[in-house]
Amino acid sequence: MVEQAKRTLAYLCPSCRQSVAVERSIFQLAASANELPCPCGKSSLRVEMMGDRVRLTVPCLFCGKDHSVTCSSHAFLHEKVLAFSCAASGLDCCYVGEEGPVFAALKRLEEAVDKLEAQAGEKGTFLDELVMHEVLSEIKDIAQRGGISCTCGSRNWKLQVNYSSVDLFCADCGGAMRIPAATASDIDDICCKDKLVIHGQA
Ligand SMILES: [Zn+2]
Ligand SMILES: [Zn+2]
Ligand SMILES: [Zn+2]
Repeated sequence: MVEQAKRTLAYLCPSCRQSVAVERSIFQLAASANELPCPCGKSSLRVEMMGDRVRLTVPCLFCGKDHSVTCSSHAFLHEKVLAFSCAASGLDCCYVGEEGPVFAALKRLEEAVDKLEAQAGEKGTFLDELVMHEVLSEIKDIAQRGGISCTCGSRNWKLQVNYSSVDLFCADCGGAMRIPAATASDIDDICCKDKLVIHGQA
């Protein structure tokens, strides 16, 4: 039974785009809430065992949001491989299971992502052109009203456009804020804001 006592968990880091796979003993997983960070330190997978359910909070490379998913503890601890997917993109964002099957699934996902990115390079730079266009024009409106600031007091900011999100950076303290730009609900979210406040590092 020794070989069954460990589980492998994997996800793709939205920040550095590397796949992150970690092994944890069932004992470690059950003992307390587990924070499984990417080596880059910018994202982490959270696992909480709650009686007969397990809740995972998965940072998602595709839509830039965290997904909260649950499954039964039995499946979590015993299935060969469990896949959790991103509702916005339909792609898998997290695997849990035995080391071999998890790595095989992760490899297939990496190939799918490479293919998607190659396609995106041909067709367009964004997951959803329309959503990105709307989100950027909302940010522009907010900026024109002077609504972008940082908690450090600065009003100097820089913008970086990503595949499915937009990052705002404070030019003074380096604080950052990510605005998802993947789905129609992301447009709704930013439409109702009259200001954007970057969380400063001070
Ligand atoms: Zn990372
Ligand atoms: Zn997602
Ligand atoms: Zn700042």
